[in-house]
Amino acid sequence: MPLVAIFGVVVLLLSITASQLSPTLGMSWPSSKSMAVLTRLVLLLTLAPVTHAAWTHGLASHGGALSRRSAVHASAAPAALDAQRGVEAKKRVLILISDTGGGHRASAQAVEAAMNEQQHDLDISVVDLWTTHTPFPYNMFVPGYKFAAKNPLVWSAVYFSTEYKPFYSLLNCQGTLICYNGIRKCIEQYAPDLVVSMHPLCQDIPLKVLGDLAKESEAPRIPFATVVTDLGSAHPTWFHPGVDACFIPSDAVQDVALGSGVAAGQLRQYGLPVRKDFYAEPDVTREALAEQLGVANGRKTVLVVGGGDGVGSLEDIVGTLATRLGESCRDQAQLVVVCGKNDELRRQLESRSYDGVRVHVEGFVSNMPQWMAVADCLVTKAGPGTIAEAAIQGLPCMLFFHLPGQEAGNVPFVVDGGFGEYSEEPEVIAQTVCTWLQQPSLLEQMKQRALEAAAPQATQQIAQDLLAMI
Ligand code: UDP
Repeated sequence: MPLVAIFGVVVLLLSITASQLSPTLGMSWPSSKSMAVLTRLVLLLTLAPVTHAAWTHGLASHGGALSRRSAVHASAAPAALDAQRGVEAKKRVLILISDTGGGHRASAQAVEAAMNEQQHDLDISVVDLWTTHTPFPYNMFVPGYKFAAKNPLVWSAVYFSTEYKPFYSLLNCQGTLICYNGIRKCIEQYAPDLVVSMHPLCQDIPLKVLGDLAKESEAPRIPFATVVTDLGSAHPTWFHPGVDACFIPSDAVQDVALGSGVAAGQLRQYGLPVRKDFYAEPDVTREALAEQLGVANGRKTVLVVGGGDGVGSLEDIVGTLATRLGESCRDQAQLVVVCGKNDELRRQLESRSYDGVRVHVEGFVSNMPQWMAVADCLVTKAGPGTIAEAAIQGLPCMLFFHLPGQEAGNVPFVVDGGFGEYSEEPEVIAQTVCTWLQQPSLLEQMKQRALEAAAPQATQQIAQDLLAMI
């Protein structure tokens, strides 16, 4: 049976690969539609027995869990937890993420800090639900995302196939049966007064758990909100009609939400939550900051970022940019490259020598607002968090890569917003950046457009609304 499932998944990957590649290669793919239909049929047929097996297995384990439920719930009840901890009753907020990339955790920390700032008696926990509370292979989302983000065809296969509702429903059904117990235990353990999802895969099962808990205890369901951390496009799994509120950052995401069954009344559009240092007034000058960070004062500064994981062909881009800047702005420019969690990239870039330009290499930094504050422009993959942060800081963006589907909408957000360009070609990227640096009036114009697209109040507004739900 696993072989049958693997066969189905391989057929899916092949068909998506073929239909994605055909326009790029200039090939006509007249049967791509029928191939898609065939693929989905194969998938439905192959996944059905697997789902059936999981259902049988899941029911068996749920049976055991059901008999333990009341005891577990009682021991994790808020009052009991407070007694154990010997603290005054605090309102508990459980923020659910998966640490895929850097954006979900960054936004979660931003919301956590803003809520704590507005109300002091809170106990907020940010939890990577899938890594810490589900069994293999569901606990492998983080390495799985890293692999897929570096292999766009694999990413496309996963992203676009799960946009197909019947296929996603089957996967969701399996996921529920295998992961329900772990996720339920997590929610019971934290005994929250409010659950906030900040990940596209943290809606369905947590909402089911909350619904079941409410039925069993005959109490009102614990409030649940989704805060979408994508910007110009979003996967339909973000949107569940059962949420109490869904916070969205843009009109484009609003369209997906409405098309996915969420009602207009459930939607609140403020912007994407970012950490306070991005929108707070700086308390030091740019010069002082440059000194603190150990970079040259007075040089044009280009910040290069590949998201939390250092994704994209950064080595080529940095090499070409360094060469062109060394030629066109000799000894007047510097590159700051933030490699995120990509240690191999960091080692490669540090082992190179550069001529006519300074190159400063960092790993994962915890002070991104400061790095943005000393930069004249940003070269980045089209990550939603990084773009929202750059907009608030008025930084023009040269985008070099986007994940198919998920980040595609971030490109028009920047390009049509008038504060950046998109190219995957290192030469074009380098030429564009050199042109910007040589035209201060153009940089200033783009800076103004970035500020117009920014939503610096979003984090505080979201925090305020969430607090009103407790
Ligand atoms: N980030 C950071 N330090 C790093 C690299 C990235 O704090 O060294 C942050 C960045 O400021 C942003 C997030 O990680 O908040 C990246 O989110 P984005 O949505 O841009 O991309 P993702 O990594 O989630 O794909």
